Amino acid sequence: MQTVEPQLTKRFGLKDSYTLKVFLATGGYSSLKNLFAKKPAEVIEEVKASGLKGRGGAGFPCGMKWSFVPQNTGKPIYLAVNADEGEPGTFTDNYMMMNDPHLLLEGIICACYAINSHMAYIYVRGEFYAQIQRLNGAIDEARKAGYLGKNIQGSGFDLEVYVHRGAGAYICGEETGLLESLEGKPGKPRIKPPFPAVVGLFGCPTIINNVKTLSSVPWIIANGAAAYAAIGTKESTGTHVFGLSGHVNQTGYWEMPFGLPMMEFINHYGKGVKGGALKAVIPGGSSCPILTAKECEDLTLTYESMRDHKTMFGTGCAIVMNEHVDMVKVLKNLTHFYSHESCGQCTPCREGTAWEDRLMKKLLDGEATTQELSMMLEIADNMEGKTICVLSAALAMPVRSFIQKFRADFEKYCKPSISAVPAEIS
Ligand code: SF4
Repeated sequence: MQTVEPQLTKRFGLKDSYTLKVFLATGGYSSLKNLFAKKPAEVIEEVKASGLKGRGGAGFPCGMKWSFVPQNTGKPIYLAVNADEGEPGTFTDNYMMMNDPHLLLEGIICACYAINSHMAYIYVRGEFYAQIQRLNGAIDEARKAGYLGKNIQGSGFDLEVYVHRGAGAYICGEETGLLESLEGKPGKPRIKPPFPAVVGLFGCPTIINNVKTLSSVPWIIANGAAAYAAIGTKESTGTHVFGLSGHVNQTGYWEMPFGLPMMEFINHYGKGVKGGALKAVIPGGSSCPILTAKECEDLTLTYESMRDHKTMFGTGCAIVMNEHVDMVKVLKNLTHFYSHESCGQCTPCREGTAWEDRLMKKLLDGEATTQELSMMLEIADNMEGKTICVLSAALAMPVRSFIQKFRADFEKYCKPSISAVPAEIS
């Protein structure tokens, strides 16, 4: 694997890493000179050429997303930062905000300049109280030092940034649910199109980017797209902060280029599987289809390898499970979570997630047969691609992959079906 200098975590561990003083002393805000020397369209082209993909889960190319913003509507353009981080198993954005909030602000300045926005909102998960304090402290410092507000560093570019605290709903991490919440309404996702880049916050063009996506941008502007694209693989460029939790001897997060084999990640960084042999990995947050130990053998930490293994890169935070894990209990946790978090607008999601959860309870209570397993798969097939947002699919995919790949775990809980009862006692 390539060895590269950290881009996102280089200040982690420094005393007072979150302050402007330390940020400036370690090269912070140095990308702004290059930024303001370019035209906004050139910045977009630079980010496009870097290959940077959105780190929040969907993996959409960042520069391309920015290019969708219409510049001729006469309406204000907004940037909304998705700092909601509610995906089970995912936990790295909050460290970014705690340790280096100014890096996020620098990324916000770059993004806003590129899309011609003068107002950005950071939508932060409500439970992240300390992170919110850090962000507000950084915004105050940046404003006083001329990195935010009017005429940033004499560039003529104005920008205000506000922190908005969410109320703790998973669905507010979905970009249009986030916009609804930011407007003061319940976080119920919107039908697309129109897409937020055209009709977003308060009906105006809006870009929504994740914390790590934006924090990646200053390095690209300072060092150039070619240097960034040379890191990682052809389809998965740059570095990422990968997370590891579950049955490993060392949980945590590490910044590294894309491309490390999953087993090396588990064995070297996670110091091996804890408590038994590897059984399964959920590679990038709970909505990604689960992988067996065998499937992990040739898996790498890249978007393309995850796609080839019929799962998703997601947030890049893997959950490791050893051989003693009961997959039925794991899936019950997920059905409970997603049925609780469904906003209820779409019938396949509202009914489907609840139905899956009830069937899982029936299975755990020893009241289900293999017919219920078939029913769960059938319901999952009817939950995907028929709803306003992807929360419904976020449960359908795990249901399908868990039952198909670990069927023996599920069948252990099944009582014999009626047709299997011998004739003499039926
Ligand atoms: Fe709400 Fe579920 Fe429909 Fe998404 S899919 S809008 S969460 S009901």
